[in-house]
Amino acid sequence: MVKILVVEDNDDILNLIKIILELNNYEIVMASGGHEALNLLKNMQELPDLILLDIMMPEISGWDVLDIMKSNKNWKKIPVIILTALAQEKDIKIGKEKQVDGYITKPFEKKYLLEQVNELILKMQKGNK
Ligand SMILES: [Mg+2]
Repeated sequence: MVKILVVEDNDDILNLIKIILELNNYEIVMASGGHEALNLLKNMQELPDLILLDIMMPEISGWDVLDIMKSNKNWKKIPVIILTALAQEKDIKIGKEKQVDGYITKPFEKKYLLEQVNELILKMQKGNK
């Protein structure tokens, strides 16, 4: 089963993503903040296949989480899709510089979220990622 770690400080969005993805047979691990996400990664037997990462979070931003991940040899290969508010166009620019694997702007359409995730998983399974 494909495992996805969702990092999002808004509980409503977090639960919505969980429901959408679980209905499509993904295994979901949730973290409501960056520190929680990093702790989960440290303690996981099997790393997630994909991470959905919110940018605007208290304590530690998604960009900081991403930088920490990219400096860890085990975590740096995990594909990351950024979750960002529509207004934050600068995030997409930063994301390109940091070579993230995708962007989902909030508020998102259920269908769009699924398409983004399915496409990336398919690419990975074909070995292109
Ligand atoms: Mg947030």
